[in-house]
Amino acid sequence: MTLRSILIHPDPRLKKVCDPVPDLSDELRTLADDMLQTMYDAPGIGLAAPQVGITRRLIVLDCVRDGEGEPRPLVMFNPEVIAESEESSVYEEGCLSIPEQYAEVERPAEVTVRWMDRDGAARQEDFNGLWATCVQHEIDHLNGVLFIDYLRPLKRQMITRKMQKLKRELARG
Ligand SMILES: [Zn+2]
Repeated sequence: MTLRSILIHPDPRLKKVCDPVPDLSDELRTLADDMLQTMYDAPGIGLAAPQVGITRRLIVLDCVRDGEGEPRPLVMFNPEVIAESEESSVYEEGCLSIPEQYAEVERPAEVTVRWMDRDGAARQEDFNGLWATCVQHEIDHLNGVLFIDYLRPLKRQMITRKMQKLKRELARG
């Protein structure tokens, strides 16, 4: 498995609507495995393919916190929210493409998600708590939506300027 480099906002690839995955291939399974390793290494609880520069509908996540039980890596191709609760919840979100920036985002508290797993099988599951927030955040990435898009324009611009500065510093090495 290979660690992939994670794109930092702003980047045009993070604003694209990603293409569905019609059929699985070894290449896509390798990509999923690399994304999981990259996510754990970061460390993070979710990662979407466009964050590593691949604009396909693929996300990985694992919201089991350290010391709270066995890891539960999920690989989701073509994930889709098919139902959501009226009740909402607020979490402080962050993003591996927007390092060290956090803000509260309100989303449906529970969602039902349908996806294709790593073996090509159709899966469906209800998620709540942190899992619900994380899976919605990652699916947003597949539609070119970042968590800062939910914030007031002024706050969003402030974060974007910080990221532009960070990218200039990283480019200089
Ligand atoms: Zn993210």
